Amino acid sequence: MDCLFCKIINREIPASIIHETDNILVFDDINPQAPIHKLIIPKEHISTLNDINEGHKILLGEMLLTASELAKKLGVSEPGYRTIFNCNKDAGQIVFHVHMHFLAGRTFNWPPG
Ligand code: 5GP
Ligand code: ZN
Repeated sequence: MDCLFCKIINREIPASIIHETDNILVFDDINPQAPIHKLIIPKEHISTLNDINEGHKILLGEMLLTASELAKKLGVSEPGYRTIFNCNKDAGQIVFHVHMHFLAGRTFNWPPG
């Protein structure tokens, strides 16, 4: 499959991987939008949030739990952080393999741009 993030999972493309389980991978975003910008992705190829189903509940829960644990590890739980799933064109999704952005280390605006 011609998917950038599947290639990172399969080590066909290098990435700065910081955490891995049987189900998920966490690595640095190549174009960081904050001092800390990680991507938390499922190893299963799922194109967009529109494609998730009941069978993905545990996987999605693991992704959120990973974000919370990552925040503790990086010392940003208290100042705060932002998690984002972009879905399709209007949200600016460019890689069609579900991923959670984990951003921290600065103040973020609300509403987002
Ligand atoms: P999206 O806009 O689809 O939500 O976000 C895709 C993210 O993937 C972007 O933040 C972009 O910088 C990141 N990205 C794109 N190509 C690569 C790559 O080859 N390696 C890594 N580590 N991140 C990438
Ligand atoms: Zn993929």
